[in-house]
Amino acid sequence: MTAPFTIAVDGPAASGKGTISKAVAAHFGFAHLDTGLLYRVVGAKTLIGIEPIAAALALQADDLSAENLRTPEVAQAASKVAVIAEVRAALVDFQRAFARRAGGAVLDGRDIGTVICPQAEAKLFVTASAENRAHRRWLELVETGHDVTLQEVLVDVKARDERDMNRALAPLKPAEGAVQIDTSEMSIADAISAAIVAVSARRLPL
Ligand code: C5P
Repeated sequence: MTAPFTIAVDGPAASGKGTISKAVAAHFGFAHLDTGLLYRVVGAKTLIGIEPIAAALALQADDLSAENLRTPEVAQAASKVAVIAEVRAALVDFQRAFARRAGGAVLDGRDIGTVICPQAEAKLFVTASAENRAHRRWLELVETGHDVTLQEVLVDVKARDERDMNRALAPLKPAEGAVQIDTSEMSIADAISAAIVAVSARRLPL
């Protein structure tokens, strides 16, 4: 097994960071953690009446494969619990342990390069216009049978951006030294290539 190597990928909702992270992980043979799922699990529990801090403290790795974590209702609930300091604190150790596992790890989220792994060997910040992101998320939702309009998804994306970027704790912003990739006008293949090039530059000593 090779030494730990952490790739931190941050960015707003539906920027393409998940797709890019999975492809980068596959390319380098690293493990991948979508940290948004942690907040989605906690958010989903609040929708059935469980208190958010208790839900975060009780989180198990198996919970991440629960069904129905991808709905817009769960996304909104996730971004609401994500402003609670005790919820964020309860999820730190799990993420850091994953980041430093042998063999390398890619984590994507909002605060990976800024708070969870400021020492990550490679950092990316993946972004795109709100309209572009809403369109992509709308297509995904419609393809998976959700009955939503593009306008509703745009309102949802902007509301989450607002909450994620302006919260006091771990707000969404590019980490120091992060390579920014704006996917608005890029194909998926080009965005993945740009990410692999950026990470490769950090892996090979000059
Ligand atoms: O990435 P995803 O859209 O699944 O994230 C759901 C919500 O979880 C985000 O809107 C954000 O509020 C929160 N989140 C976070 N920190 C992370 C990952 C997600 O606050 N590292």
